Amino acid sequence: MIRLAILGSTGSIGRSALSVVETHRERLHVAVLAAGENSALLAEQVRAVRPEAVALASDAACDDLRSRLEGVDVEVLPSGPEGLLAAATWPDVDVVLCASSGTAGLEAALLALGQGRTLALANKEVLVMAGALMVDTAARHGGLILPVDSEHNAIHQCLDGRRIDDVRRLILTASGGPFRDCDRSALERVTPDDALRHPTWQMGRKITIDSATLMNKGLEVIEARWLFGVTGDRIDVLVHPQSIVHSMVEFVDGSILAQLGVTDMRLPIQYAFSYPERWAAPVPPLDLTRTGPLEFLPPDLERFPCLRLAYDALGHGGAWPVALNAANEVAVEAFLDGELGFTAIPEVIEGVLHAADDHFGTPANLGEVRAADRWARDRARAAVGTLRSTNTAS
Ligand code: MG
Repeated sequence: MIRLAILGSTGSIGRSALSVVETHRERLHVAVLAAGENSALLAEQVRAVRPEAVALASDAACDDLRSRLEGVDVEVLPSGPEGLLAAATWPDVDVVLCASSGTAGLEAALLALGQGRTLALANKEVLVMAGALMVDTAARHGGLILPVDSEHNAIHQCLDGRRIDDVRRLILTASGGPFRDCDRSALERVTPDDALRHPTWQMGRKITIDSATLMNKGLEVIEARWLFGVTGDRIDVLVHPQSIVHSMVEFVDGSILAQLGVTDMRLPIQYAFSYPERWAAPVPPLDLTRTGPLEFLPPDLERFPCLRLAYDALGHGGAWPVALNAANEVAVEAFLDGELGFTAIPEVIEGVLHAADDHFGTPANLGEVRAADRWARDRARAAVGTLRSTNTAS
């Protein structure tokens, strides 16, 4: 039996993970579940998979969960970060799936790696904020990071057992988002509802906006740098609207290996749970006679500056990747709340990046990562406030 900890069980990835568990009950056991505030869904999940323990973000959510689970034998861990960390280090867990949204999962992911566990990583922000720390911790304690992000999962499959020195470049594919063909003036009028309609993947709200701005691909470039140990100039992005090729690796001899499949997050999740084995999946296989033509186009960094900013942050180093991620989270939230226009998202981020050097060098530990993260969030909130008052005045 493979024992699992699922952090972020009520989100989109967490629900897909539990569907994988459902299919492979004879091989997978959920030891512990952690979620944010959704105690109602967590209670249902507890009844379905019977974990040994659960964690939630707040006392109120824990109280609600207890009232829903009267008579069920499950340990409710302390609320907040303490419970999340206890879940990440729960005894005898083989694979920790880190799908906690945003930055909450960073310390949990580091602790799991510090115990030499396999980390199935769905939270790319963790690597963007603290890639060097994560990779270093995994190397020192024998932990393994298996990417659940579909592009990196594809690259992991293409690279498996090959020498990274033989790689010329990694090619991340991007759907291009719902505004692939919009011109600049149309982008200025985009609303949150427009942006939440993603053409190929069903995902959470934050990542759907990131897909529309191409920041998601930018964060993935940084994620790939740390997962596979290649520099940014060897990581390319191709817009591939059909999302059939999930990513590719080009080798020094010019050969390109690609991984293709249907767009279903259960596949990369199952790959991470079963690795190095492969198991049958309850997903219809890809029928290449029905996909239609496959297109590959260069991304437009003028219309989608967020991708350029991510390359800039990776190349610049220091606190820029932390600042990029933090400012983006604030700007996306402000956009979803109707406080910020779509094209103002990269403006807010760029301003924060350029101010970061006056305050921070390269964060050397978790405390310094958190300090840079907090500073960038405050700075981004101030920038949103300024833009809003300017717009109201005009
Ligand atoms: Mg992805």
